[in-house]
Amino acid sequence: MAWDFETEPEFQQKLDWMDAFVREEIEPMGLLWSDSLDPFDVKNETTRKIVRPLQEEVKKRGLWACHLGPELGGEGFGQVKLALMNEILGRTNWASVVFGTQAPDTGNAEIIAHYGTEEQKQKYLQPLLNNEMVSCYSMTEPQAGADPKEFRCMAWKDGDEWVISGEKFFSSNARIAEFLIVMAITDPDVPVYQGASMFLVPTSTPGIEFLRHTGLSGEPLDEPGAHGYIRYNNVRVPEENLLGGPGQAFAIAQTRLGGGRIHHAMRTVAYIRKALDMMCERVLSRRTQGEILAKKQSVQNYVADSFIQIEQFRLLVLYAAWHCDRGDRDKARTYIAAVKVQAAEVLHDVVRRALHVHGALGCSNEMPLGSMWNMVPWMGIMDGPSEVHRVTVAKQVLKEYSPSDGLWPSEFLPTKIAAAKKKFADYLEHQVGNL
Ligand SMILES: Cc1cc2nc3c(=O)[nH]c(=O)nc-3n(C[C@H](O)[C@H](O)[C@H](O)COP(=O)(O)OP(=O)(O)OC[C@H]3O[C@@H](n4cnc5c(N)ncnc54)[C@H](O)[C@@H]3O)c2cc1C
Repeated sequence: MAWDFETEPEFQQKLDWMDAFVREEIEPMGLLWSDSLDPFDVKNETTRKIVRPLQEEVKKRGLWACHLGPELGGEGFGQVKLALMNEILGRTNWASVVFGTQAPDTGNAEIIAHYGTEEQKQKYLQPLLNNEMVSCYSMTEPQAGADPKEFRCMAWKDGDEWVISGEKFFSSNARIAEFLIVMAITDPDVPVYQGASMFLVPTSTPGIEFLRHTGLSGEPLDEPGAHGYIRYNNVRVPEENLLGGPGQAFAIAQTRLGGGRIHHAMRTVAYIRKALDMMCERVLSRRTQGEILAKKQSVQNYVADSFIQIEQFRLLVLYAAWHCDRGDRDKARTYIAAVKVQAAEVLHDVVRRALHVHGALGCSNEMPLGSMWNMVPWMGIMDGPSEVHRVTVAKQVLKEYSPSDGLWPSEFLPTKIAAAKKKFADYLEHQVGNL
């Protein structure tokens, strides 16, 4: 009987330490440095004075960059353990930086480790793994995101250089990144899935023009946001900056986004639990009509529905992680797409209820619930809209089925009853005979 919902006691001890460490040492940083790029900015000397010793503590305890195998300096814990860790780290963006698991660097490191040449690994991978450098993934374009067939950014060979021309939108962290991983069409004569390539482009390369840095809703319009709108004006990189082979961009992207999506889902568990914690504390503290809110049935429904949704979501995330660890790529794909869809929905439902039971205070800027609510729309968009992931789930599920043989469905009762009568014909005859 291999099913088991228990965490090994030794690992549970690590999780307990992490929980206290995140709450006491890391979460307070988010209250003082609140720009969305602050956690990731390795050049900010003030915040690094706090972050670096915390990272050392994490390394000492063998919890640094646990998504990586030992060959890359991680512990190779696998996705299930990482999910349990991310359930704690997701409380604040700062925690993933302190534990060396911050997006998009994790995904970017993963693809360089997988597809990079020795030289590329030395130049880009090692500094990323040491959190000495920030990276950016530049794929979405202003006119197209979910459908790569609409992409226009091109790259072509000129002597021993590649020339990149086009625009990219919502390239997160571009403003503080040392290098960008850019997807561009290198062979327009074949479908984009076979004709696009990936390039490693230092941000200082001539021709890179930041048109603006878009912020998320709720962030001030007159200050630079975290998501670069970039024009690549015939940007030249040496041929050795091609990542993987020509035409391999989508194979590479799949390696990257799979991990990224499940890690986001894992962190979302932490985030929505934080909303449930706030909801429960509030309904036990606030009185109306002579009793606490928790006595009202509709409020009990909020608590119960939130708990049920979070637990369902958490188990689905862990199950997806388990499929990843077993190396069943097909199953992992289905479940990763499923958790991506569910993350957006559970976040929406639980944060809305938590905010709602806080009344005016919940709507105010004196509680974190407003900014949690701002996250809801982008959870269903980043790494692809929910509709697209639903299509993936549906296609994978449908692979297990085939059309019915004839005009009627295989569960058509008249056909099934006729078959059952035939199967038990002897018995039925005998029964009739006995009547
Ligand atoms: C916070 C955040 C961070 C991001 N970071 C990055 C980054 O670092 N690098 C990067 O390259 N990109 C990044 N993105 C962009 C993200 O990947 C795209 O926004 C996403 O792929 C959707 O593309 P789009 O915005 O162009 O929307 P569109 O593709 O235009 O889709 C808009 C809407 O159309 C509908 N739709 C689209 N396709 C379908 C379909 N097949 N079936 C049914 N309905 C459909 C959906 O309702 C969808 O929400 C980020 C986005 C966010 C919100």
